[in-house]
Amino acid sequence: MIKITEGPLPTTLEYAALGKGELASRIAAKKAELGAVILGHNYQRTEIQDVSDYLGDSLGLSQEAAETDADVIVFCGVHFMAETAKVLSPEKTVLMPDLRAGCPMADFVTAEALKRLVNEHPGAAVVTYVNSTARVKAMSDICCTSSNAVQVVESIPEERPIIFVPDRNLARYVQEKTGRENIIAWDGYCYVHDDMVLEELDKARADYPHAVVVVHPEARQDLLEQADFVTSTAGMVSLAEEHDALIIGTERGLVDRLKQRFPEKTLIPLSGAAICGNMKLNTLAKLAWCLDHEKHEVTLDDRVQEGAERALRRMLDLSGGWRPPTGEEEALELAGVRPSGCGCG
Ligand code: SF4
Repeated sequence: MIKITEGPLPTTLEYAALGKGELASRIAAKKAELGAVILGHNYQRTEIQDVSDYLGDSLGLSQEAAETDADVIVFCGVHFMAETAKVLSPEKTVLMPDLRAGCPMADFVTAEALKRLVNEHPGAAVVTYVNSTARVKAMSDICCTSSNAVQVVESIPEERPIIFVPDRNLARYVQEKTGRENIIAWDGYCYVHDDMVLEELDKARADYPHAVVVVHPEARQDLLEQADFVTSTAGMVSLAEEHDALIIGTERGLVDRLKQRFPEKTLIPLSGAAICGNMKLNTLAKLAWCLDHEKHEVTLDDRVQEGAERALRRMLDLSGGWRPPTGEEEALELAGVRPSGCGCG
């Protein structure tokens, strides 16, 4: 029986001094009291994944948030993901263990800077990757994920210029796939994917010459040119089912989970250093603190909420909207792997 200290403790430091068992018990008790649900991104620390009610990628978790009956959602991921959950579930309280857990790629573009670019290109459509702030989404015509970015861009009349934010690598990939010359790309990137370099791929290939190479479109062009497949994390999950040996160019968390799912296969991270430190800012102690204090609430002003929802719903409508997972996807989810449309999951 784990002894639980009564009542909330003042700071996360006091929580950090408690054992994992006590923290988990506190979290379970407070979650039941509030009728809360904990959503954990695939790249969270395992201690957080262990106490999460749902695991998945950013958009899938936000859609999970919209489906749940819970009034309080604790989103363990980065800030733009919790915002997306709030956009799709405005009536619910969305909390985060650490409000500083932001996404550097999302922070590359602000609403003010985007407005300046829009003013320079009147008439251009704004296509915004889901890895972006709600304020930027609210200024956009439509959102996209790495799975549907080509489809979204192709839905816009060919003669209309497109401002694509914030990922320059995804923009370049979409430009190549669609053959469109009129894409104006923001100069942002995901440091986890952009830091993967050709030397690492060459070494992995030399070590595993029979392995198929798959790289996420958030990676640099020279890597994409050398890959056998360029695809989203959803595509990577499918490739891992089909092939016995894969070199995988994305965040380590997905590779590690695929290895748990397919222990008999040779699944190699293209880069051992591809780890998103921002995702790991959330800890069990901070999660217990945020529940006990009902703090670190994510809020949006009404105009941002409405604008971001419009851009997200347009994308969901275009790609067939939210649908329940297939049996195969449920099996993967049980194993802790959820196919994703975005680079973080
Ligand atoms: S993996 Fe990249 S895109 Fe995802 S949260 Fe980290 S920095 Fe942002």
